[in-house]
Amino acid sequence: MSYLDNILFAIVLGIGFGYFFINIKKIYRNVNLGIAVDRKDNPAARWKNMAMIALGQSKMVKRPIAGILHIVVYLGFVIINIELLEIIIDGLFGTHRIFAFLGTTYNVLIATFEILAGLVLIAVVIFWLRRNVIRLKRFMNREMVGYPKNDANYILYFEVVLMTLFLLMNASDLHLQNVPGGFSHFIKAGSFPISQFIEPIFNGMPNETVMLLTEVFWWLHIVGILIFMNYLYFSKHLHILLAFPNTYFANLDPQGEFDNLEAVTKEVKMMMDPNVDPFAAAPAPAEGEVPSKFGASDVQDLNWVQLLNAYTCTECGRCTSSCPASQTGKKLSPRKIMMDTRDRLEEVGRNIDKNKGLFIPDEKTLLNDYITAEELWACTSCNACVEECPVNISPLSIIMDMRRYLVMEQSAAPMPLNAMMTNIENNGAPWQYNQQDRLNWKDEN
Ligand code: SF4
Ligand code: SF4
Repeated sequence: MSYLDNILFAIVLGIGFGYFFINIKKIYRNVNLGIAVDRKDNPAARWKNMAMIALGQSKMVKRPIAGILHIVVYLGFVIINIELLEIIIDGLFGTHRIFAFLGTTYNVLIATFEILAGLVLIAVVIFWLRRNVIRLKRFMNREMVGYPKNDANYILYFEVVLMTLFLLMNASDLHLQNVPGGFSHFIKAGSFPISQFIEPIFNGMPNETVMLLTEVFWWLHIVGILIFMNYLYFSKHLHILLAFPNTYFANLDPQGEFDNLEAVTKEVKMMMDPNVDPFAAAPAPAEGEVPSKFGASDVQDLNWVQLLNAYTCTECGRCTSSCPASQTGKKLSPRKIMMDTRDRLEEVGRNIDKNKGLFIPDEKTLLNDYITAEELWACTSCNACVEECPVNISPLSIIMDMRRYLVMEQSAAPMPLNAMMTNIENNGAPWQYNQQDRLNWKDEN
C-alpha cells in the first residue's frame, strides 16, 4: 500500500465512523424524548440479564433451530470483526498482516474466522429459505411487507457478500504466499481451512493480477463493513448493538405487575379509607405528583426505555406468533406496536431536525395515525409477548399506557368496560345490582 492509499483509507474510515456516530447521537437524542424512568436499581441483576440474554442469547434457544443458527451468525459477526482490527492497522500504517508475529495463535485465529465464515454462509442460506421459500407464518404478517420484508433479506445478502469477500481475500493472499521464493510483502502467515479450496481459481493468473485482486477484495471487504455498520441505523439489525442496553435497562418487576400511577393510587386509597373525613378539603398534590397527561397518545408520552425497546425490536415476530389476540384473528400484533412506535419516533426526530431542534406539532400522533384503539383493546394483557421476546421488550407496557390515555383522558373505553367501571364505582362490584340487593339470592329458595 502506498502512502496515498493509507491517506485514502484514513478518509474512508473517518467518513464511515463519523456518519455512524452522527446516527448514534440521533438515536440517543430520540430515546431521550421519552419521559424519565429510573432503571439504576439492582445493577447485579441487570448485568446478569445482559450477560445471559444479550450475550448468551438464552431466550433465543427456546426455539432451537433458529436459536442455534442465530448464535452462529452472531458469533461470526463478532469474532470475524476482531479481524477488522488488523485490517484497520494495516490500512492506516501500510503493514500487512500485522498480527502475524503471534505465530500459532494467529494461525488458529485465522482458521477459526474462516470456519465461522463458512458456517455463517450456511446459516444465512437456511435463514433465507425460511423467509422466502418455506415462508414461516410469523414472517408473513401484514406488517411484514415492503421495507421490513426487504430489510431482512438485504442483511442476509450483505452477510453473503462480506463473508465471500473475506474468503476471496484470504484465498488470493494464500496464492501469493505460495509463490516459490516469495512474492512482494506476502509473508507466510495464517491457516486457511476453507479458502485453500478457493485458492486454485487464481492458478494461471499473473502474480501482479492476483495482487491487484487481493487489494480489490480487501478494499471491498472493509468498505462493505463500513456500509453495513451505517446501514444498521435504518434497519431492524440495530439490535446487534442495542440488545445490550435494552436487556440491561429492562423492567425487573415481576411480569403482570402494573405500574399504577402514584397520584391515582393515592386518590383511590383515600376514597377507600373509612377514617378519611369526606367533607375535609383534600390536600393539594405535591408538585410533579400529578402528571400533565395520563397515559400516552404519542411517543413523547412514553418513557425512554419504551423508546429504546422500539429501536431494539428485531422484528422476529416471536411475540406476535404467541399472542392469543393475534392467533385468534384480532387486529393486534405486538410486533407492529413496536414497529409503529419506532416509525413515529423517527418521524418526530426528523421533525426536530428540520425545525432546528424544536418539535413543531404535525397534527399526528402514535395513537390513531399508527396504532388504533381496536388494536389496543384486543390485548388480553397476558404477557406472552414479553415472555417470548428474545431481547426483553415489552409491547404490553406501551399498550397499557395508550389504553390509560384512552380511559383517563378521553373516557373512550369500549362500552362493556365503561359499564363495568360505572358498576364498580356505583355498586362496588362489576355487576349492575345495587349493593342492598346483594343478599336477595337467599330469598329465592
Ligand atoms: S399481552 Fe397483549 S399483546 Fe402481548 S401477547 Fe398478550 S394479548 Fe398479545
Ligand atoms: S418485540 Fe421482541 S419478540 Fe416481538 S418482534 Fe420485537 S424483538 Fe421480536
